[in-house]
Amino acid sequence: MNKSSEQLSAVPIHAIDLIRKKRDRGTLTEEEIRFMVQGAASETIPLEQLAAWLMAAWLNGLAPDEIRALTVAMRDSGVKFDPSRLGKIAVDKHSTGGVGDKTSFLVAPLAAACGVAVPMISGRALGHTGGTLDKLEAIPGYRTALTLDEFEAVILKCGASIVSQTPALVPADRVLYALRDRTGTVESPGLICASILSKKLAAGLDALVLDVKTGSGAFLRKREDGEYLAALMVATAEAAGTRTVALMTDMSQPLGAKAGNWIELVESVDLLSGKRPAESEDLRELSLILAGWMIFLGGQADSPEAGFLRADAAIADGSALSVLMEMIEAQGGDISVFEDMAGFHKPGATQVVEAWETGYIASMDTTMLGWAVQRLGAGREKAGEPVDPHAGIYFHARRGAYVEKGQPLATLYATHAGLMAEPVSLLKSAIVFSAEEPEAVPLVSRVFTLTEAEAFLGEQS
Ligand code: URA
Repeated sequence: MNKSSEQLSAVPIHAIDLIRKKRDRGTLTEEEIRFMVQGAASETIPLEQLAAWLMAAWLNGLAPDEIRALTVAMRDSGVKFDPSRLGKIAVDKHSTGGVGDKTSFLVAPLAAACGVAVPMISGRALGHTGGTLDKLEAIPGYRTALTLDEFEAVILKCGASIVSQTPALVPADRVLYALRDRTGTVESPGLICASILSKKLAAGLDALVLDVKTGSGAFLRKREDGEYLAALMVATAEAAGTRTVALMTDMSQPLGAKAGNWIELVESVDLLSGKRPAESEDLRELSLILAGWMIFLGGQADSPEAGFLRADAAIADGSALSVLMEMIEAQGGDISVFEDMAGFHKPGATQVVEAWETGYIASMDTTMLGWAVQRLGAGREKAGEPVDPHAGIYFHARRGAYVEKGQPLATLYATHAGLMAEPVSLLKSAIVFSAEEPEAVPLVSRVFTLTEAEAFLGEQS
């Protein structure tokens, strides 16, 4: 018998019984879920048993009560951040992952400039998607691994801080996530919900804005799956006491024009400086919408729309850009690199890919484009490997654009020329041309507040 089971219950619990129960489509009690989570965090349940339980949960699904219990048990598996000393409402934004998704660099300083505290705990590149931390580490000296005291000090000084998860925060997710990554059990709405929310709730947030991606670059590609995940996360986080809203947003093409590490920071800083290139308009619009919700939930505007306008004003008066630069400096980053952003960009190899047909860009397989970005050197093959800050893709044409054969479609930046062949071929397979103009896809297709989430989940059951 596992030691921790004795502490939890007079009746011993055995991992093997819980695996068999889930395998046979049973519903685990809160105590049983807590047993599995504590066993994962303390590494007292062997990995093969955790893996078998995860696969049973992946195959048979988790009931809403199990997901709630899993989220809370994972949240409570380690230390927590206490934002009460910040003296402001603490609000974060979290995206389920996309290509070229750099809204964190915009929404964190925008919300902070409008009086909201933003304690943002971010991740690294995962699968075909880029990681906020890898992008920030393109800035020489930027430290993502702060202690919780340093994290608090940066937020008190600048209003926002973007850091990595500490080993003591949600240790159960560290074990379970690494195992899911190796056992094909990532793409499960219940497991994704618990993994994301446990980390967000451990940050002690008052409110959370979720950006749930849908379309060819999303982890859950099917719209119904994305909607279910969005509603589930809103209901689960609200039940745990955090006011939450989820926006379903488009990932049928990369967000903005640039995907990589340093080049995504460049695009973000350009927007915060007040530039309005047409190619980045979707990124600007979505960032203002998300920031508008954060400002509203942070009590600094009467509605998300009023929050949008406040965020827009924080671009116009330069205050959001100042917050970003202060935060970077406070975390050890050298902000002089932003004085000549193009000069700092030194990719090992550059190649322009031209349109191979004339016509409309009808569709993009954004997951494939994401893999192209990763394999240019922007991502890693194995955990712990360094990434190339300069690798990435600059997309010159967007979905729905009419292009002439020979017109530049994208510029690829790689660590060295030997890496170019596979990403070029992925890019060519990912983009489809057509004589017909494709239908436009809305940037935000649905918003789930608690009311909508409960109604949606009610219809499903
Ligand atoms: N991001 C996470 O943190 N966890 C998941 O399961 C998926 C995306």
